[in-house]
Amino acid sequence: MPFFKKEGENQQAATIEDLSQKIRDSQMPPDVEKISVQELDMLSKISPESSEFTIGLTYIDYLANMPWNISTEDNLDISRAERILNEEHYGLQKTKERIIEHLAVKVLVLKKKPHILVIDDEEIARKNLTHILEKENYDVMAVQSGIEGFKRMESAEFDIVIADLKMPGVDGMEVLEKIKIKHPYTQVIIITGYATVSSAVEAMQKGAYYYIAKPFKLEEVRLKVREAYDKKSRLRSAKGSVLCFAGPPGTGKTSMGRAIARALRRKFVRISLGGIKDEAEIRGHRRTYVGAKPGRVIEEIRRAESSNPVFMMDELDKISQEFKGDPSSALLEVLDPEQNHTFVDHYLDVPFDLSRVMFIITANVFDNIPSPLRDRMELTEFSGYTLEEKAEIASQFLIPRQIREKGLYGYQPEFTEKAIFKMIQSYTREAGIRTLERRIATVCRKIAKELLHDIEENNTSGAITITPDLVEKYLGRQKYHFEVVEDENRIGVATGLVLTETGGDIIFVEAVKMKGSKELLLTGSLGDVMRESAQAALSYIRSKADSLGIQEDFFEHHDIHIHVPSGAIRKDGPSAGLTIGLALISLLTGRPAQRDVALTGEITLTGKILRVGGIKEKILAARRSRMKKVIIPGKNTDNLAELTDTIKKDIDIVPVDSIDDAIKNVLLKP
Ligand code: ADP
Repeated sequence: MPFFKKEGENQQAATIEDLSQKIRDSQMPPDVEKISVQELDMLSKISPESSEFTIGLTYIDYLANMPWNISTEDNLDISRAERILNEEHYGLQKTKERIIEHLAVKVLVLKKKPHILVIDDEEIARKNLTHILEKENYDVMAVQSGIEGFKRMESAEFDIVIADLKMPGVDGMEVLEKIKIKHPYTQVIIITGYATVSSAVEAMQKGAYYYIAKPFKLEEVRLKVREAYDKKSRLRSAKGSVLCFAGPPGTGKTSMGRAIARALRRKFVRISLGGIKDEAEIRGHRRTYVGAKPGRVIEEIRRAESSNPVFMMDELDKISQEFKGDPSSALLEVLDPEQNHTFVDHYLDVPFDLSRVMFIITANVFDNIPSPLRDRMELTEFSGYTLEEKAEIASQFLIPRQIREKGLYGYQPEFTEKAIFKMIQSYTREAGIRTLERRIATVCRKIAKELLHDIEENNTSGAITITPDLVEKYLGRQKYHFEVVEDENRIGVATGLVLTETGGDIIFVEAVKMKGSKELLLTGSLGDVMRESAQAALSYIRSKADSLGIQEDFFEHHDIHIHVPSGAIRKDGPSAGLTIGLALISLLTGRPAQRDVALTGEITLTGKILRVGGIKEKILAARRSRMKKVIIPGKNTDNLAELTDTIKKDIDIVPVDSIDDAIKNVLLKP
């Protein structure tokens, strides 16, 4: 036999021995280990040059590298968690409270000893079970009859009830039936002697978790009780167990997720679901070709080297429309506590327990998340920041961080308050603070460059104060102006407020009429709902022409064209109805609409105004654009509680219930 062949064989044997050791070290569950060993056996029989060998090798290596039994220990100190969230984030009081509550519930569940009730008429059985289970650190109560068991269950909640099947009076079956009705989460384990095994099987059909035959095997009791408790905890935590952070970009969702991981001392991983088109990106590719890979979930868990990281999934509302298969069902397998303890990735091909992962979903618009997923989530809203909040965040967090990162630490440049306001107002237009962070980074970079220059030239540098003029020097001509208010009031143009993925924004609705025959033209990338709102507005005006002071036959020989500029952005939703209505009435009555009064509201055919969403974001946007007044539906008055006093002082908010009321507030005399 040629020498190199032998060499190859030795190498193959060594590789296989290596893997075999890795499998043993990986602490994988027994069934996974069995499969790995079988696969390894097969490998030893095929040529190392074949592609099957490579596929098999990579696969086993992958299995052995999964963190089957590796997890970080949670830090359950809630006040520490609170401190960390506060240290890293300005404001967001309500959001922080919700998160802390969510963590507190988790902590309580984790800290609580499982409660077990043993019901058996035989004293020796009660004593034995109590002894076994107390050693396992369960909280055990033992009683001798079904009646007594019921009494205990009235005053306390038990995670598991272990009941003897055959007892005088109320027997195990009756106990089971009653528990299934009154305490659906409680798991029941039936104890049975040899003679009653067939009834025990019936008990399983009626919903018992398991039956244990006397005499007990210690190992069996321990294992089944533990499994039953796991099931109970999963059911308990099923609803709302996944946190969802929804809000415009740059409002602190990601950084809050990181802070939670730090507070709990867990690893942090993050993937984006935006634009995902293929289920395989979530569930993995089957192991049929050399480049096959697991899905992103398993891949990230392996990379994190921990089975319980904080796992953030971004942009769930932006899963591609062209998604192959059903994204909700693929994601439910990952997120749903009833399913995710046995998540099977196509590549891994064996179940992996995801139930200890803490998933946090982020979305710009919560309502765009598919509803089966939405139902499993506990929503926490992140809203846009006001000018003052942005300035605080900039001076407390963003500027110090950029100063550190750009190596300016020893020189301590000072930003004046006016300079910060200028950066926000003239160089950004956003609900969050992403662009602001970039602008601050640019300024700091330029300062660093000048500083270096100074030091090289003069061997020293002076103190640096950043003024509005310096901001302009570094960032160039200002990018945003407030032409909105500066421009004049016009006939047929009304200012509206819309909610987009990036927060609130203002739009202008323009209406013109021309000779023609009763046609309503709509342009500017308007969605169906917005088109219908325009139809409704026109019908209302036609039916009320007389009282509005409009010639009744205005529509007979005319076409009407409604346009909403910024055509590239798709606009939809019913809340522009009122703005469209006012633009039309302004056009037809010749009364100019005030440009610095912004409207939002859905209208009915009878001229009533209905509630709309996103009031806070819209009012923040109105304030960014320096509107004087905002007209909102009277039915949204309760939303005003979400606004701070500074905002309310700055902008006049007028709730209205009818189009007539809106007209009085918006239209001027002809
Ligand atoms: P999102 O995930 O919502 O798009 P990020 O978490 O990425 O937003 O936030 C953008 C930047 O703004 C980050 O640097 C973040 O630390 C910072 N940031 C956002 N909100 C706050 C806040 N309330 N306090 C301090 N920093 C904040």
